[in-house]
Amino acid sequence: MHCHLLKLGKIVAKKKLVLGMGKTGISCINFLNKKDIGFKVFDTREKQFIDISNCDGQNFLNYRFCDFEDDFLEDIDEAIISPGLNLEHKIINRIRTLSIPIITDIELWSRYSDTPIIAVTGTNGKTTTVSMLEHLLNNLKIDSLACGNNGIPILESLNKQYEYLIVELSSYQLENIKNIKTLASLITNVEEDHLERHKEYQNYLSIKKRIFMDCEYALCNINLKNSMGNIQNCKFFGIEKNKNNFIINNRYNTKLLLRDENVIYGDLKIPFKGLHNINNLLAVLSVADYLGIKIDKSLQILSTFIYPDHRIQFIKKNRDILWYNDSKSTNVSSTIAALEYTKKNTLLILGGSEKSLDYQKLNPYIKEKVKMLIFIGENRNLIKNHLKTNIPMVDARSISDAVAIADRNALSGDTVLLSPASPSFDMFINYEERGIEFIKAVNNIVK
Ligand code: ADP
Repeated sequence: MHCHLLKLGKIVAKKKLVLGMGKTGISCINFLNKKDIGFKVFDTREKQFIDISNCDGQNFLNYRFCDFEDDFLEDIDEAIISPGLNLEHKIINRIRTLSIPIITDIELWSRYSDTPIIAVTGTNGKTTTVSMLEHLLNNLKIDSLACGNNGIPILESLNKQYEYLIVELSSYQLENIKNIKTLASLITNVEEDHLERHKEYQNYLSIKKRIFMDCEYALCNINLKNSMGNIQNCKFFGIEKNKNNFIINNRYNTKLLLRDENVIYGDLKIPFKGLHNINNLLAVLSVADYLGIKIDKSLQILSTFIYPDHRIQFIKKNRDILWYNDSKSTNVSSTIAALEYTKKNTLLILGGSEKSLDYQKLNPYIKEKVKMLIFIGENRNLIKNHLKTNIPMVDARSISDAVAIADRNALSGDTVLLSPASPSFDMFINYEERGIEFIKAVNNIVK
């Protein structure tokens, strides 16, 4: 790390390059500042579009936005890439031509910590699963932190000593990670998503499987059993399709029962929100079992788990109409999960920014559960082209217009669900802002 470069007779210390100034990049900047390690920064965006409020030390001398000079990379010994950075940007080409190694914040973190990692990936259910695991371990006084793609960059965990880190990883992160040693790695599910970046499902799946590259314990949803042949000793969890058989670490558990909206285990009653969350629960129970935690202890603690906001979040019941915010649904399979959960006569608010997804998969669920479709967002025509239905479809001008339309059309016993199956970037900063606007509109309009 103390290598130097001879330039015009002067010794120039080599620097790190932080690529991207999102949450991950800023955590790298703050960390390098603290460690007094020299660095430069590049972001593909204009400076005014970047939130620098959490960035320590704002001497922007070594920062470049949009473009960079030919010699900008001359004194760089390593680039730390952020997940959102476009891999087709010319800076990546230049870095590769100069043979500068590209690492991620995970590898940087691993040079300073050997806290065991429980890593979680999957198309949907990552944040729910890592939050459940964090809830479970911390309630057992096993000091743990859920971090990574859930919004807490892993470098921030270095402020404190934890017994475990539960690291949520997206495919964008796994694509760049060269090395990650984990105690346990798990895949919640892999459905079609992010094909703009990963091109084909098979490629997306193999990127997800990178989570197993150096793990002691591999764990995966039983639905993917046929795709895990090359993962040694992979253990499975989940519910077998069309049977209510619960599997924890390859073993059937016959003591677990489903009753209405609860999982029953002896005297214990654990509320859950939709069958998809049973899969998340079984993933957590499998990890807990591997760590030697008894199932009744785990279930007792998980009965007090509160699901994170924006995931089929109940807002209110008014005139016997139920209102739900599922703004975190950014793909088709999460909206299917929400429709499996809601009752018949759902008014579904759908749409957002464009993504290459097959919306035809929604057809059978719309047929069974939906009585009206209300569209927001720029991809409304793309979605409509995929749908085959005779139910009313209405275009809304804004999220509050969508709420007003739903309010005028919903009858007693109906459900109104925002589950857009699309990202939010055409109208909002992120899914949280979309969800908050929706809740505000529901509280203002629905009286
Ligand atoms: P992620 O972190 O992978 O985006 P979240 O837990 O934040 O997952 O949930 C994202 C969306 O997916 C929400 O709409 C949620 O209701 C839905 N979801 C959660 N778990 C699952 C699952 N196991 N299968 C399908 N959908 C799920």
